[in-house]
Amino acid sequence: MLKNNLGYPRIGSQRELKKANEAYWSGKITHQDLLKTGRRIRQNNWELQKQAGIDLIPSNDFSFYDQVLDMSLMVGTIPERYAEVLIENTQNTYLDLYFAMARGYQKDGLDITAMEMTKWFDTNYHYLVPEFVKNQDFKPFSGKVVDEFVEARELGIKTKPVLIGPVSYLLLGKEKEAGFSRISLLEKLLPVYFHLLEQLEAEGAEWIQFDEPFLAMDLTYAEKEAFRLAYHAIKNKFPKLKTLLTTYFEGLNGNSLLAVNLPVCALHLDLVRNPQQLDEILTKIPADMSLSLGVIDGRNIWKNDYEKSLAVISEARAVIGDNRLMIAPASSLLHTPVDLDFETEINAEIKNWLAFAKQKLGEISDLHDIAKGDLSALEINKNAILSRNTSSLIHKPEVKQRVEGIGEQDDQRKSDFKTRQAIQQERFKLPLFPTTTIGSFPQTEDIRQLRARLKKGDLTPQQYDEKIEKATVDAIRWQEEIGIDVLVHGEFERNDMVEYFGERLDGFLFTKNGWVQSYGSRCVKPPVIYGDISRPEDMTVRWSSFAQANTDKLMKGMLTGPVTILQWSFVRDDQPRSVTTNQIALAIRDEVVALEKAGIKVIQIDEPAIREGLPLRKADRAAYLDWAVRAFRISASGVEDQTQIHTHMCYSEFNDIIQHIAAMDADVITIETSRSQMELLEAFADFKYPNEIGPGVYDIHSPRVPSVTEMVELLDKASALLPVKNLWVNPDCGLKTRKWPETEAALKNMVAAAQAVRELTSQSVK
Ligand code: GLN
Ligand code: ZN
Repeated sequence: MLKNNLGYPRIGSQRELKKANEAYWSGKITHQDLLKTGRRIRQNNWELQKQAGIDLIPSNDFSFYDQVLDMSLMVGTIPERYAEVLIENTQNTYLDLYFAMARGYQKDGLDITAMEMTKWFDTNYHYLVPEFVKNQDFKPFSGKVVDEFVEARELGIKTKPVLIGPVSYLLLGKEKEAGFSRISLLEKLLPVYFHLLEQLEAEGAEWIQFDEPFLAMDLTYAEKEAFRLAYHAIKNKFPKLKTLLTTYFEGLNGNSLLAVNLPVCALHLDLVRNPQQLDEILTKIPADMSLSLGVIDGRNIWKNDYEKSLAVISEARAVIGDNRLMIAPASSLLHTPVDLDFETEINAEIKNWLAFAKQKLGEISDLHDIAKGDLSALEINKNAILSRNTSSLIHKPEVKQRVEGIGEQDDQRKSDFKTRQAIQQERFKLPLFPTTTIGSFPQTEDIRQLRARLKKGDLTPQQYDEKIEKATVDAIRWQEEIGIDVLVHGEFERNDMVEYFGERLDGFLFTKNGWVQSYGSRCVKPPVIYGDISRPEDMTVRWSSFAQANTDKLMKGMLTGPVTILQWSFVRDDQPRSVTTNQIALAIRDEVVALEKAGIKVIQIDEPAIREGLPLRKADRAAYLDWAVRAFRISASGVEDQTQIHTHMCYSEFNDIIQHIAAMDADVITIETSRSQMELLEAFADFKYPNEIGPGVYDIHSPRVPSVTEMVELLDKASALLPVKNLWVNPDCGLKTRKWPETEAALKNMVAAAQAVRELTSQSVK
């Protein structure tokens, strides 16, 4: 029984990689310094895994930026526009080319855009999308995987090099021109893989891990053929190489026969996401194939339940015996924080339920030892699991009962949209094309400093509040001056749209150092939802009523929706996500009702992450959308008809879920559209989206100030597609990351654009 690890976090336990990368980019350290940091992190990781007794220690799981980009350089998928990076400046190294592809290049008279970035399956990790052209050529370029294997070998550690498998590599990319399908490039790509494998074999590599997550996704016939072709070709060329084919984030389902018939030495299954697939695989697996059991969650922070995992191990063992078994995390540990030992401030009872990457290595080894008869670790684990099952820190009967008691009426507004719209129009008397913003105003250094100073004790809570009050009042006065119709308070009191609520809800925990790589040098520290969620007191009423008291105009209350709070946190694994989401939904509902009671007439519930939660397999999507939409509706439906509920969405494609967006039944939705030149609106128009809608008229991701004319044009487009009486005017998203000067200029132009279309419309009516 081998102890197998698929990948280890590469950011370093104190985010050393982030710091070194950023120092290199700003010219503070040399190329050599950066390489040294990389080596140090790799060495640490390998040694740690060796000490933990891991048999199959991964190499090439390290990356300075992204493993897909590494793969692109190893097979020479370098878009033409980067050719000049090495030509124009001969001082530039391979790493400079690499970072140019990752981040763009503006130097030496060149201005080259970065490669596109997108989410790695359903994680919050982003990879750089390979760009393929019709006459795509592949050629050996970087030898990273070989270099790192040799580097480890010289440290006395024999590793298992990890490659993204050729089929998944192609599927992760995008065709940059019409007239071909990227999967057809396989035969051209394989020779470069062979080249790498030859070198690895020559250097003494025994096991090679091929990551093929797409084998666990919905596949077309051509894609299935590609798997057969690729792995037969590899087998023919390298009969002695031990190939480990890893799948994760989903189950093999309909692809299981395909998988077990591939000529590979071992197959890895994600048994956390999809435990059901084991039975079928055990009946089908050929006698010469090993099985890697992914029983430890690579996506979450909970301690493994050893008894449960051992049951899985025993089942497999009974069928295929010890020699063909591996124990492993379900996926790479890249998606978990590095080391729980650094969390000195977490409540001891809760800490005893957690395991980060380093602790998960220990779990692999424990499970192996217990399966082999050394039971010493089992009792301790049982106690931790029992404590979590029964702890009063987690289990709040009143919360559970309330969720169980959610009834038919609780996700319904009192009247239908038409009725509400008439009541709200009568009440608010807003002009056509009312203007508003999405919530946040620039979080300047000054504002962020306030929180730092409050934390340090340099400011008393009262002094802090006064300064936030001043920023809020200034923002209100300014919005009144330029003539915005529905104001926002600016969110100056908020650090982050999820953290702010997590800190005010029971059942959430925050780590000091629980960083996970999001992309490149960017790391996030998601909150941990550990227990039943309740709202001990009002969360936003104080700031919203303060803001409303300072203006005669409408002030929009501002909340984060239940699905987004769930999606951007580490979640419980002891109850369905839908139950956790309903708990949050009830807490948000209470806040919505409290805001209404405090005199707030318009309330926005942001759900930017609703699409991200979409399951990877098509068959599971409808069920998710049902409960996600319902949770939003529960949060929004406690109010009277005269209260206007807004929602906001951004960052993703919405065309394919439009009917579910409509089912959320928000009175108004503000949505990111400007980057697609309002293409999205066509989908809304075709669908005849019934409620009010504010298509973003300018992109907030750039400091560029949009002109009045271009926004008028966008609004014209919108008016041609949707009923004018339903249209709002607003930016694409919150303005938190912008600076004041460009924000002021852009919003003034936006108000002018709204006025212009109002006049045009009233003339055409006359
Ligand atoms: N209300 C939030 C803001 O304006 C919304 C942010 C978001 O959509 N991600 O910052
Ligand atoms: Zn947004």
